[in-house]
Amino acid sequence: MSRLRITEIFYSLQGESSSIGKPTLFVRLTGCPLRCSWCDTEYAFSGGEYWELPELIKEIEGFKPQNICITGGEPLAQLEPCLELMATLCERNHSVSLETSGSIDISNVDDRVTKVMDLKAPGSGELSKNLYSNIKHLSQNDEVKFVIKDKTDYQWAKMQIDQYQLTDKTNVIISPCFGEINERELAEWIIKDNLQVRFQIQLHKILWNDAKGH
Ligand code: SF4
Repeated sequence: MSRLRITEIFYSLQGESSSIGKPTLFVRLTGCPLRCSWCDTEYAFSGGEYWELPELIKEIEGFKPQNICITGGEPLAQLEPCLELMATLCERNHSVSLETSGSIDISNVDDRVTKVMDLKAPGSGELSKNLYSNIKHLSQNDEVKFVIKDKTDYQWAKMQIDQYQLTDKTNVIISPCFGEINERELAEWIIKDNLQVRFQIQLHKILWNDAKGH
C-alpha cells in the first residue's frame, strides 16, 4: 500500500500563486534533493511521519477543504505515492495544486492539478537542477515562479521568459526573495521592462512572518 512521509498538514490562506488569499489546506511532504540558498522550509528536509494513503485522505478531508496545495520540500521526491495522492484528490473533486522545484519530471502529474513550478535562478545556488524539459508540460492553468534575489537573477529570469516564450505558454510569477532584495526596486524593473508577469510578495510572510503552520 502507498504511504507518504508528511511534515505537516495545516489550513491557512494561500500565500502565493494566482490563488493567493484563498483558504487552502497545505499538505507538506517531507524531503527535498535541493538546497536553495534562501530556502524557508529547511525543517521539511527530514523527519516527518509516514501516512498510509487512505488514512491521509481521511485526515485531509476532515478539514473539508475546497483547495488543497501539495507542497514540500519537494513533493515529487516521493514520486509514485505523490502522483497517486493528487490523482485521488482530483477524483474526489478537490481543487489541487502542486508546488514543485522544477527539478523533477512533471509529465505524469494529473492534468487536473495546477502545477506551480519554480525555475531556480542563479542566486538559489541550484541553477543546474532546472529540468527545462518540464516547460513543455505546462499549460495556461499552470504557473512558473522565479524567486529573485538580485539584479543578476532578474536579468536571468528575463532571458528565460524570452527564450522559452513563457508568458505565451503559462502564467509567470516573479517574487522577491524575502529580506534579500528591495521589493519596490524589483517592481520598478518589471514595469520599466513591461514584463507581462505577475509580481507577488508572499502573503504569509507579511501576515505571519513565516511562522511554521501558516
Ligand atoms: S526546492 Fe524548495 S524546499 Fe527544496 S531547498 Fe529549494 S526552496 Fe527549499
